[in-house]
Amino acid sequence: TSCGMTDVGLKRGHNEDNFLINEELNLFVVADGMGGHAGGEYASAICVNTIEEIVMAIEMNGSDGGEEVDPVEIARERLRYALRLAGRRIFEKASQEEEFHGMGTTAVALLLDGTNAIVAHVGDSRLYLMRDGKIQQVTEDHSFVARQVKEGLMSEEDAKSHRMRNVIYRSLGYQEDVEVDVQVYAVRKGDRFLLCSDGLTGHVDGDELGEYVGGFGPQEASRRLIELACERGGDDNITALIARVEAVD
Ligand code: CA
Repeated sequence: TSCGMTDVGLKRGHNEDNFLINEELNLFVVADGMGGHAGGEYASAICVNTIEEIVMAIEMNGSDGGEEVDPVEIARERLRYALRLAGRRIFEKASQEEEFHGMGTTAVALLLDGTNAIVAHVGDSRLYLMRDGKIQQVTEDHSFVARQVKEGLMSEEDAKSHRMRNVIYRSLGYQEDVEVDVQVYAVRKGDRFLLCSDGLTGHVDGDELGEYVGGFGPQEASRRLIELACERGGDDNITALIARVEAVD
């Protein structure tokens, strides 16, 4: 069961976030675009469309030329390729057309493939996993402040209000190719995944996210989280997408 919602927030003129839910593919994506006049929206749209196209197009095939290939490895590389191709397409468009110059996007994608969850991301859009009543952040932001915190140079509290909190060092579209982080987890029945843009996590912290994701169904939780981010200022576009695993086969 899944639900995604996006909202322009209270401070921005338009919404540059995009998300995708494809329940047939068990594919979920959140992308947070930026740059250019209409570039941000366009970049995040290219991103979600490319990822869907690639995951749909590449047939899952356990064997390749008679050699045994691990299906998890195939799914992992397929998702990595989808994000890299999205980045290349955005980069090309941005280089060709003046109005799209400088556009880019973050992306976080979840592919549920049998008993595995494959998570790919670039930038500071996040994926959280809620299991056994506890929520954990699965993705590590490719942001200046996250790196400072990791290296012990900044506290998590200071990172939240730091003037460079929005600076990310990896995204899709700013260069031709980009490194994509991909992780694989064993899925359990009852797992809940939250994919979101920084417009949500800038206003709502991890424990609070857990209260909503654990306390309500995907639709109600998404709606309430967006409301909460707006009540606290709605500084940026806000996207929340929640997927709950009802059965594992
Ligand atoms: Ca944002």
